Amino acid sequence: MLSFEKSKKAFKESSKYLPGGVNSPVRAFKNVGGDPLFIKKGVGSHIFDIDDNEYIDYVLSWGPLILGHADQKVVADLQAAVAKGTSYGAPTLLETELAKKIQKIVPSLQMMRMVSSGTEATMSAIRLARGYTHRDKIVKFIGNYHGHSDSLLVDAGSGVATFNDIHEAPGVPKNLAYDTLTVDYNDINGIKKVFKTHGNEIACVIVEPIAGNMGVIPGTREFLQTLRELTTESGSLLIFDEVMSGFRAAFHGAQSLYQIVPDLTTLGKVVGGGLPVGVFGGRKDIMQWITPEGPVYHAGTLSGNPLAMTGGISTLDQLNEDLYKEMVARTDYLAAGIKQAAVSHHVALTVHHVGTMWSYFFNAGPVNNFEDVQKSNVDYFAKFFNLLLQHGIYTAPSQFETNFMSSKHTKEDIERTILAFNTAFDEMG
Ligand code: PLP
Repeated sequence: MLSFEKSKKAFKESSKYLPGGVNSPVRAFKNVGGDPLFIKKGVGSHIFDIDDNEYIDYVLSWGPLILGHADQKVVADLQAAVAKGTSYGAPTLLETELAKKIQKIVPSLQMMRMVSSGTEATMSAIRLARGYTHRDKIVKFIGNYHGHSDSLLVDAGSGVATFNDIHEAPGVPKNLAYDTLTVDYNDINGIKKVFKTHGNEIACVIVEPIAGNMGVIPGTREFLQTLRELTTESGSLLIFDEVMSGFRAAFHGAQSLYQIVPDLTTLGKVVGGGLPVGVFGGRKDIMQWITPEGPVYHAGTLSGNPLAMTGGISTLDQLNEDLYKEMVARTDYLAAGIKQAAVSHHVALTVHHVGTMWSYFFNAGPVNNFEDVQKSNVDYFAKFFNLLLQHGIYTAPSQFETNFMSSKHTKEDIERTILAFNTAFDEMG
């Protein structure tokens, strides 16, 4: 048995100062019955806790670390950048350089703004949509998560689904929640009905084209195509929230898989390579509504921060189609191994994977929306998660989250992981 004594002690201490002992709720491991691990370092696909336990890491800081931990080039570029100062609050060449690279990979971002988190990106994108359309209502999908801004915390996935009754968002003014209309994910009739009643009041529809905050659930082509058509017909905007799926579902994002061009896109996670970066961007005529060019206010003391831009540039510079092919092949192989382990142990398990994102539900399936996810056996999940940890496999500690693959995961890592799944199924009995 691995010992977590130092992490336990550290958690007791952190809990005196930080609510729940952490700075983001799912990190607390509360729903899986344990104390969180305190991490001291990461190397490639592995992380080490302060008790000196080593794990194969599939959380990867919740997605950003597509090149794994402490990638040599990213570290060297950051070291060179930090020596020149940490922030200037004035334009640098780095912001344009990163913008150009992003546009090359996701061309629908004709113009963009850099921010410091995915939350800021989605919050700013919906403000822009509201300003541009002169409408207040927005539509989001149940179980999709777009960060923790007021309008978007309604019926949200991720930590909200893990810990809260998702219909309640204490602290969100009722009037704001009233303007957020929610519909089941992948529900074509549901969204059509909403547009029939409210079409000319809706500023935007925001959607995770590949949902990752209730486990991985791909939007169906018909569903996403319907969103494109309804928004175009009614003069509202379609926002693809690709904070997670960007550079993950595919090199060119989920929008390239579906060949659907949204009006606005939000990015985060991989785009900063482990540093705080979010991006919102899209059609030039809409983005020109942002201050100082247009009337919709957006700003940020650390927006476009030189270290954060360097993390993004250094990461995107190393991504290419061949690397994705390798990572996707590893993800496919792992998913098949996990499926096989469940079948041979007669466990009802549904495994979903798209690109470098993967998750599993203790649920016979199909899993197409939040209601389906809720049928999963979360108690089984919690026990299973802790067994994987004991076998040196660090996965997302909630049924409502996604795991990731990096370029540093080796064939040996994957084989060890499949073996650990088999052993954990044996131990579950
Ligand atoms: N949008 C999506 C799809 C996300 O997955 C997340 C975070 O997980 C966010 C927005 C919020 O990003 P951040 O946590 O950087 O604020």
